[in-house]
Amino acid sequence: MAAANSAAHYKGTTVSVGTKSSVQKLKARRAKNDKKKAAHLAEPKHPKSHVTAETHAAKLESLLSDGQHAGKVNQSETNKAADERTAINYASIIWIVLLHVGALAAPFYFTWEGLGLMLFMHWVTGCVGVTLGFHRLLTHSSFQTWKPVRYFLATVGGFAGEGDVIEWVANHRQHHAHSDQEHDPHSPRDGSWWSHMWWLCWTFPSEAQVRHHKRWAPDLVKDRGMVWVGRMFLPSQFILGGLFMAAGYGVGLLTKTDPWFMATSFVVWGVFVRMVAVLHTTWFVNSASHIWGYRNYETTDDSKNNWWVAIIAYGEGWHNNHHAWPRMAPHGHRWWEFDVTFRIIRLMQWTGLAWNVVDYKRKSEKVDLKAAPADGKVDKVTV
Ligand SMILES: [Zn+2]
Ligand SMILES: [Zn+2]
Repeated sequence: MAAANSAAHYKGTTVSVGTKSSVQKLKARRAKNDKKKAAHLAEPKHPKSHVTAETHAAKLESLLSDGQHAGKVNQSETNKAADERTAINYASIIWIVLLHVGALAAPFYFTWEGLGLMLFMHWVTGCVGVTLGFHRLLTHSSFQTWKPVRYFLATVGGFAGEGDVIEWVANHRQHHAHSDQEHDPHSPRDGSWWSHMWWLCWTFPSEAQVRHHKRWAPDLVKDRGMVWVGRMFLPSQFILGGLFMAAGYGVGLLTKTDPWFMATSFVVWGVFVRMVAVLHTTWFVNSASHIWGYRNYETTDDSKNNWWVAIIAYGEGWHNNHHAWPRMAPHGHRWWEFDVTFRIIRLMQWTGLAWNVVDYKRKSEKVDLKAAPADGKVDKVTV
């Protein structure tokens, strides 16, 4: 067999160089190729970097794409160089323990004003910051807004105490690409408590952490403003805590209550209790919404629509809908699946604060039969 191939190879060579004109043609071709090589070497670097930029754009496009097929495209690529969370995340553990211990002081510093502040800030940081900002805007680009609004929402999301915005987005995009499979950072298949909070006890070694951010959040990593917002995560908590303390002191003076008691109440309820409540709210999306509930769509993961998570997490509990159509701004796809965060996006749209809102309910051309609903009952809503 090998001999036959060799014979064919030599036969071909003989034929091609058999005549004088063929030899001349070959020489001419070589000269042309050499010229091309020289021209290529002399080319400035930017065309190459242009290609790289295009590749990054394509990667980002696939990160933000809809449907599970998009996740699969990323999967094979990321598996090649998958970094593992092998380092103990001491900072995260200390942070979570500290917040929970601080929240234990709640009964001793209860005031109605403190409770009101807690509920209001739960909405501000949990809904406006995390759900609207971190999740629908920065992770999935479900709508577009002005740059200062992006930074504002990222800052408010940071107040929720869930870490650097870039880390959050990277983790969540990885979750979508590998939902309930290997490399999903928080799948209940690894244990319900793992998906709820234990996964936060681990992190990447520092260099792998950088790779993780670049791989999953290339758009945010190159945004210096966003990097700065992420770095301000910890200092901003002290600034907010200080403001609450001052406000509590002032309210104490106005209501003729002990001002230091009121100031402490504002910090305990407005920071510690509120943050613990928001953290568990977000964590329930990762745990409960992948364990309990019903499914509108046959996705390849275990995502569920969970009504009580939808209530406490401002619409995020309609998680099966979201996994089926990650970029879609409304997470409620049936009439009873109320999504308060989407109402806010609509409000922003009406007031000119948001545009390019991804809502396939109104774009029939986006119908994709591959992701048809499991029971076929979600008619026009079915994207
Ligand atoms: Zn999920
Ligand atoms: Zn998501």
